[in-house]
Amino acid sequence: MLVADNLIKSYRRHADVVRVLNGLNLTVHDGEFVSIVGASGSGKSTLLHLLGTLDAPDAGTIWFDGRRIDNLPGRERDRLRNRTFGFIFQFYHLLPELSTLDNVLMPAYVNHSILGWWRTRRVWRARAEELLHRVGLGHRLTHKPRELSGGEMQRAAVARALMSRPRVLLADEPTGNLDVNTGNDIVRLLRELNRDDGVTIVMVTHNTELAAGTDRVIRMVQGRVQEERPSLLAAV
Ligand code: ADP
Ligand code: MG
Repeated sequence: MLVADNLIKSYRRHADVVRVLNGLNLTVHDGEFVSIVGASGSGKSTLLHLLGTLDAPDAGTIWFDGRRIDNLPGRERDRLRNRTFGFIFQFYHLLPELSTLDNVLMPAYVNHSILGWWRTRRVWRARAEELLHRVGLGHRLTHKPRELSGGEMQRAAVARALMSRPRVLLADEPTGNLDVNTGNDIVRLLRELNRDDGVTIVMVTHNTELAAGTDRVIRMVQGRVQEERPSLLAAV
């Protein structure tokens, strides 16, 4: 479903050019839950940004459902990004002044004209509430982020990412700021969404135990995928 072909990506810092992705190839199948592991600085976040069209490669191509997506014009790219991909980050990126419910509503809000929003807001509100119940935050709708625990903030961020019914969730160290048990709960939630809704998930993680619970572990070394092996758990 999602294919990266020979991706090259460098960053320039002053006079230095650092090559982060160096001919990276990757195929993610529809309905898979894959994890990406690798040393800090090995290009995991860079790869996730490219897959989600948040950034473009210097060379190489990215395909989604057989359609090339790395070179789309701005508007089409925004549409694809908003509707096809959901993003989850290590530090949640919730807006501190907004309630949990309003944070989850935010993507729907920014994707509408004022009039369009006024007409459909009840539907969106109902969906946001439903998603918050689904992630276990039905009792936290009016809380502000600072009144939530880390795990609860990440659950809110998961609900927000699901608002547009994305086909693919791209999660960048979603448990990186959480204790082990809370992190396990978040991955369990992602697994449920993957299994029950068929959402494809690409998750970057430092935690090899968490990675072992996904369908496939992809290790990045020197800007390439070193190995792709089915995890032990998925094999039994
Ligand atoms: P990872 O997520 O695996 O830790 P990243 O993809 O964030 O790695 O970064 C890979 C390398 O690229 C790092 O050396 C990092 O410093 C560098 N890098 C990432 N983003 C930028 C940027 N916007 N400008 C310059 N260098 C960057
Ligand atoms: Mg990173």
